[in-house]
Amino acid sequence: AKAEGGRGRWARYDPERAAREATSTALAAALPSALARDEFVVEYQPIVSLGNGGMRAVEALIRWQHPTLGLLSPDQFIGLAEETGLIIRLGQWVLERSCAEAGRWHKEFPRARLMVSVNLSARQVSDPEIVDQVAGALRNSGLPPDLLQLELTESAVMATGGEPVRALRRLASTGVRLAIDDFGTGYSNLAYLRQLPIHTLKLAGPFVDGMRAHDPASVVAERIVDALVRLAHALGLSVTAESVETPEQVERLTALGCDSGQGRHFGTPAAPSAITALLRSAEMPGS
Ligand code: C2E
Ligand code: MG
Ligand code: MG
Ligand code: MG
Repeated sequence: AKAEGGRGRWARYDPERAAREATSTALAAALPSALARDEFVVEYQPIVSLGNGGMRAVEALIRWQHPTLGLLSPDQFIGLAEETGLIIRLGQWVLERSCAEAGRWHKEFPRARLMVSVNLSARQVSDPEIVDQVAGALRNSGLPPDLLQLELTESAVMATGGEPVRALRRLASTGVRLAIDDFGTGYSNLAYLRQLPIHTLKLAGPFVDGMRAHDPASVVAERIVDALVRLAHALGLSVTAESVETPEQVERLTALGCDSGQGRHFGTPAAPSAITALLRSAEMPGS
């Protein structure tokens, strides 16, 4: 077949690509029955206050426990679920599961006021049913609305049919908090940012990644983070740094006024029981 682009090149048969595509097709086809068979699991990663080191929130991150391929990461199937439309039901399942878990944590550890942060895909953000789904998950779980945060990427926000402000206002009307995920990797439409009813910017990993000791390039990365933190604070938003991996990054981010951090340094995504254990030990006197 002639290659796309029409420059007279011919696409060569690429066995690796063919294998990848076959796997994707098979995975996409298996998604609905995987949901029915309860093969998905949610792990939770701590989001920690840089001010006092306390766990403020956990981000819910989906995984697929595939019967033959093992544990699959969301990057391997969320895109497929978006394409097939299954993301609407899968996303609702994550929302229900995460709110139920957080509702239990809130009941057992009310003083922790642990928030759960759930990722929404572009299709979910544009779905008119999303507000009812969020309200339903809150109702079913008894989780106070301000203990649920929804993470939306900039592209998901901009994909809302030219009505991002209205779409996000409807979401915010449920009382939940809204965060922009991977901030700085998308459109970064600063004009919109000012109008959107959001609470938090999650600073994309690559910015934090660039902050390394003894690396001259890190000066630039640090200036960008500094500017973004100032921008966020000027707009009344809090900032969460993603992919925090080293004590040096914690020190620099804290010095720049970043509010909270998430990453390997604080803890990797874990089963609910591990979060329960963290909440329990935080409650013990002297900790
Ligand atoms: P994200 O929302 O930006 O989530 C953060 C990703 O960074 C997670 O990858 C997390 O495991 C990873 N991470 C954590 N600590 C570190 C660190 O120290 N260094 C680095 N380099 N990475 C770290 P994960 O779990 O593979 O998820 C990938 C993406 O899949 C997420 O990115 C999110 O966009 C999407 N995703 C996950 N769960 C859901 C879901 O339930 N619904 C939707 N729509 N998307 C989801
Ligand atoms: Mg996220
Ligand atoms: Mg992110
Ligand atoms: Mg991401």
